[in-house]
Amino acid sequence: MKLYKYLVDYNYVNSFDLSVLKKALVLPIKADGIYCKFFVCKESNLKLLDLSLIIEEIELPRNKIEFFLSDFNLRLDLYNSSESLLKQKEINPKLMEEFFNKLLDKALTSRASDLHFESLENSMVIRFRIDGQLNSFYIFKKEFFKTISSYIKMLSKLDVTKIRNPQDGRFSFVNVDFRVSTMPTIHGESIVIRVLDNLNVKDDLESMSFSSHIIDSFENITSLKEGLVLITGPTGSGKSTTLYSLIKQLNSEDKKVITIEDPVEYKIEQVQQVNINEDIELGFNSVLKNILRQDPDVILIGEIRDAFSLSIALQASLTGHLVLASIHANSSIDTISRLIDLKADRFLLASTLKYIVSQRLVLKLCACKSGCVLCNYKGFLGRVCIAESLVCDNKIKSFLMKEDFLIEIENYLKQNNYKTILDDGLNKVEENKTTLKELYKVVSS
Ligand SMILES: [Zn+2]
Repeated sequence: MKLYKYLVDYNYVNSFDLSVLKKALVLPIKADGIYCKFFVCKESNLKLLDLSLIIEEIELPRNKIEFFLSDFNLRLDLYNSSESLLKQKEINPKLMEEFFNKLLDKALTSRASDLHFESLENSMVIRFRIDGQLNSFYIFKKEFFKTISSYIKMLSKLDVTKIRNPQDGRFSFVNVDFRVSTMPTIHGESIVIRVLDNLNVKDDLESMSFSSHIIDSFENITSLKEGLVLITGPTGSGKSTTLYSLIKQLNSEDKKVITIEDPVEYKIEQVQQVNINEDIELGFNSVLKNILRQDPDVILIGEIRDAFSLSIALQASLTGHLVLASIHANSSIDTISRLIDLKADRFLLASTLKYIVSQRLVLKLCACKSGCVLCNYKGFLGRVCIAESLVCDNKIKSFLMKEDFLIEIENYLKQNNYKTILDDGLNKVEENKTTLKELYKVVSS
């Protein structure tokens, strides 16, 4: 499997002198019939390692030796700790804490949103999700999973003996909260730790690098007193970040802001955030039904998911409230057909709909252009948002009443040089913020 091409062969590592490896800053990965692989860093001193001996031993021509750049010191360090921990009969809490804290520190500085600990058939792997993509970071012996799993469970106050049932817990580390989920699998367990608020990931409108015409739309949106504003895009396109940023800007002493979320992801001061919980009769629909009695000025509906939530959003925005909501759709025009499919009253829609912003996240080129420690040798660091903003002017409102509204709107937008997501993305390619390949991958998915 491609993901595990860096699987460390521990017997191979142990065939080297560890003190030499430490001095040379090289970590052997494995040797098979074709390749001899090593983790190295820019400071590695290969001369200290007798490569000629390695080549002789496995009878390989020199070009079959492969090197992979990595955060070398930490890798060797963690490897050493895992070996010492495995040798002990009882877990040494201090050594384990040290090991785990180094790992968390690495995850936070790598800007990870999730840490995955997976037990595989013959080993265990630790993967970090960074900028929406999973990357394998560390591989250890399979036996080590139990040690890590017990420690994580102890840390998050879970039942250490339970491995046959899923469990949920929490813990904190350097003022950051982590949510833990364990799940039994055929090879043992999968443990996922969600980083609830990684300070290294600045998710605000500015850091998302929206183009100026989209920023202009956001400014207009935050000056609205009433109406409906929809933010659309697939899962993981940064919709909630945009919504939270807009809510933060709308939040002021003279306004009552209520959000209906499932679940609440970030807490915003002074905003009345309602966490949907279907189990305790705080269900989505019952909250929606009662929301207007709370006398709000601004309402955020986490997601419009059906005809009922749409009808509440439309009614509220017609009666003097500003309603912001997200909805699953591929583009701004696609959103309009989605609304009509959900049996939206067209007259109500024409009277209330103000903006539809459709967005996607594309990987941002790292300043290094080829690979460095910061971007984990991927060449990409962070993400930028590409978007399109459809202003529902009087023309568009009039088209909504027609049967062939989609064709009419499309033609009208074309005539008015409407900038689509793809246009915005191509601009970002020109500005060297991302690549054409990445743009097409994201836009066509
Ligand atoms: Zn880089």
